[in-house]
Amino acid sequence: MNLGILKLFRLSLLFVLIQGLNASIQSFDFDLIKKGKTSKINNTLLIIGGIQGDEPGGFTAASLVSTHYEITKGSVWIVPNLNFYSIIKKSRGPFGDMNRKFAKLDRKDPDYNSIQRIKNYIKAPEVKIVLNLHDGSGFYRKKYIDNMHSPYRWGQSSIIDQSKLNVDKYGNLLEISNLVCSHVNKFLIRQRDKYSVKNTHTRHGNAEMEKTLTYFAISNGKAAFGNEASKTLPLNERTYYHLLALEKYMNLMGIEYKRNFNLTPKVIKHLITNDIYISFHDGNIRLPLAKIRKLLKYFPIKKDGTLEFIPSNPLMTIIKNKNVYTIHYGNNKLANLSPDYLDMYEFKQNIQIKVDGVYKDVELGSIIDVSRNFIISPIKNLRVNVIGYINKKQKNESGLKITKKEIIKRYSIDKHGKIFRVEFYKKKKFVGMLLINFSSKLKSIKKLLFNTQVKKLVKKNLMHKDEV
Ligand SMILES: [Zn+2]
Repeated sequence: MNLGILKLFRLSLLFVLIQGLNASIQSFDFDLIKKGKTSKINNTLLIIGGIQGDEPGGFTAASLVSTHYEITKGSVWIVPNLNFYSIIKKSRGPFGDMNRKFAKLDRKDPDYNSIQRIKNYIKAPEVKIVLNLHDGSGFYRKKYIDNMHSPYRWGQSSIIDQSKLNVDKYGNLLEISNLVCSHVNKFLIRQRDKYSVKNTHTRHGNAEMEKTLTYFAISNGKAAFGNEASKTLPLNERTYYHLLALEKYMNLMGIEYKRNFNLTPKVIKHLITNDIYISFHDGNIRLPLAKIRKLLKYFPIKKDGTLEFIPSNPLMTIIKNKNVYTIHYGNNKLANLSPDYLDMYEFKQNIQIKVDGVYKDVELGSIIDVSRNFIISPIKNLRVNVIGYINKKQKNESGLKITKKEIIKRYSIDKHGKIFRVEFYKKKKFVGMLLINFSSKLKSIKKLLFNTQVKKLVKKNLMHKDEV
């Protein structure tokens, strides 16, 4: 079977099984993001998030490593969304618990392909430590204290299957796990959150644990650990603890990194909620997704219904259902785009705009900070449409000095009524969009983060049953 046929096979398989769930059809393949350089010493850390979709601390931490860390020495591979479909569904596993499918698995299992793929990455010779990130219930304690703090809980622990593993590197699992815990424990938000090692002694008759990803890894000669944050904690704090642990693993492996933010729960909250964008049509539309409205109407989409997009974060995707394109981000739905199906016109020139009396040359897709007013300079053959502009006498709104008061608030793309769409058309064809930002708080959006650069595509024929 060549690759094309294999892909087709996989898609049709996906179609068959999702059809039964009455959901829209979409490929939910996980991402593998490689950072740093794989050197001769083959010292790669494999970070896995999202094996269970209702554990956002783990997959958010993994995604932040992929978007906000630079690996300056060594190599890190990140799978931030292993069970992407379960993340979108906010479910532990729509097809059963994926972390119990690593021993035996029926070829017909919907997770079969994902499991085969991740097994290959785990077995890759470069990979020396495998880290599986989870959010567990309560707080693990070696001795029973109460219901939420007990040996039966998983939260705030570093998980190993056994103390030692007979491999060249990092076989001292218990020792490493202890070092990670004591590192995290130096930076606790509160004493209750302290980390400790939980050894599941999988080999000695822990039948459930034998089916897990980490046990598969150690059975294949790879040092592997689970890292758990507590489901009792808010998302930003879970993410904070995962990142603390991740940094210690990198440190133990001699992997060096730079991050452009302070590792505090507050900053993490900001990154998760505000540092998110999506881009369409080769960057001719870019949307900041912080505070985005639930519904954007008349959103320009190609006539054939396909929509190519670049998310700033691997936990983001778009699902088309009937005539609505929904932007998903982790466990959340951010916005619905209601389409205006248009032909596209390719246009690569800059736009001239006078902002508060000063001329600027800007690319389509830019977000322009404005305090008082703006004027879009007329461009030959292009029509300008300021969405929500009150004076509808003109067909072309270039050359007009426009203030915030003259744009109807509910046409903004954000909930605060501060960011507005300026669209460019060549006759009936769509050319591109600028955003006019009247918010002084959002000035930081100038530097758009698109670190992952993974282009994704929503195809019409993969979406609804009636069209396949
Ligand atoms: Zn879990």
